[in-house]
Amino acid sequence: MINYETFIGLEIHIQLLTETKIFCGCKSKFGDKPNSNVCPVCLGYPGVLPALNEEAVKLSYIVCRAMNCTLADYGVFERKNYFYPDLTKNYQISQFANPFGRNGYFEYESGGETKRINIHEIHLEEDAGKMIHQGGRSFCDYNRAGTCLLEIVTEPEFKTGQEAEDFLQAFRRTVRHLGVCDGNMEEGSLRCDANISINEEGKGLGRKVEIKNMNSSRFVKMALGYERKRQEKVLNSGGVIVQETRLWDEARSVSESMRTKEEAHDYRYFPEPDLPPFRPDQAFFDMIEAAQVELPLARRKRIAAEYGLSDEQADYIVEEKACTDYFEKTVAAGADAQETAKWIMGNVAKELNSRGFSKSDLGTAACPLTSARLAELLVMLSENRIHGKIAAQALQAVFDENKDPGTIVSEKGWDSTADEGELEKIVKQVLDDNPKAAEQIRGGDQKPRGFIMGKVMAATKGTANPQSVQELISNLLA
Ligand SMILES: [Zn+2]
Repeated sequence: MINYETFIGLEIHIQLLTETKIFCGCKSKFGDKPNSNVCPVCLGYPGVLPALNEEAVKLSYIVCRAMNCTLADYGVFERKNYFYPDLTKNYQISQFANPFGRNGYFEYESGGETKRINIHEIHLEEDAGKMIHQGGRSFCDYNRAGTCLLEIVTEPEFKTGQEAEDFLQAFRRTVRHLGVCDGNMEEGSLRCDANISINEEGKGLGRKVEIKNMNSSRFVKMALGYERKRQEKVLNSGGVIVQETRLWDEARSVSESMRTKEEAHDYRYFPEPDLPPFRPDQAFFDMIEAAQVELPLARRKRIAAEYGLSDEQADYIVEEKACTDYFEKTVAAGADAQETAKWIMGNVAKELNSRGFSKSDLGTAACPLTSARLAELLVMLSENRIHGKIAAQALQAVFDENKDPGTIVSEKGWDSTADEGELEKIVKQVLDDNPKAAEQIRGGDQKPRGFIMGKVMAATKGTANPQSVQELISNLLA
């Protein structure tokens, strides 16, 4: 029985959130009518000249810095030559000799441990168009041609598909926190290829196979698990692994051979003559430094410690940057951290869901529940001015009426402390009207308390604070 070692590396492509494409002024947007965002530059007409999108360069360096790369002070673009119908120029402008980022690393959590993966390089390139195969015919949509694509290449250091999946999710969260990519794998704005090789333990890298077409991090894990077993079977039966590209078939859960792998020299890379090398100055590097944000892993650890949140709470809150910012603002506005976390994961999540929002909408202009409003609501709750059920109603009303919870509570007469004398009068009246129940309570039987409580609630339309009512019953019968 041979023990095999597994080596997995990932190549991740992210579409940068720029307004326009990388070398022309066409809109960079998913889902528009096919071939509506195109021009001679991104269609590769002869004689056109590329002009580099500064924002794309900035976002690329932000990612390189967040991945702890050595940042290039001299970046070069190269032509990668190949033919495919989605690539009108017959070459893709990419980076080869001098990518923007090199020798970085990234920390993520897997199996309860913090792990580190080394980043080989990060380079900027233009995306190709999209082929659509339908009813036996093939169509080309060039809206995506020339959009800004950043490729992150890890070292082949993952040992399992689970590690690769965990890394990918952490990476996705990170680029969303950085605001450079929406991370939508279904729409293809985050795409992942993997390479995997196995070898006898201690013998180093084996012959690698590349797997493409994995549209979710779960498929990445499944495909890698499948491929590892397939390679082991080949080697155990005395065969050799063919260096090739395989496609993951998600319907059948198998990988299938697509083509033998090209070598770098097949692409005949050479420097792009129409683009000068990029030489950033100190001001540029300062700007990149200033654009860094606290990364999700560090932020999760800090928030859990600072506010005493459980792992589950911290995970939920930090999954989206908008939600994390919202949580911290709500607490800063005076709400209790535990209550805030509980409400965000409970009642608030429920309201967002039923109204077509998600937690990434928290704190945006579209969402009526501002952090100040949630804080106001939770403070009223902690001061016993309203009880939990009323708070939930007030929360709904904030969404329905787009008003402050304080306004809603006073408009609807929900404030249980508005008139404490009034509540005492009501409780007294109820006790007077039900002398038998009152006598039983006085005699030590606590059962009729629920009955009295129900009467008081009915008389106050549910606004009375249950705790205050209990105290009043005890006091009045003492
Ligand atoms: Zn264009």
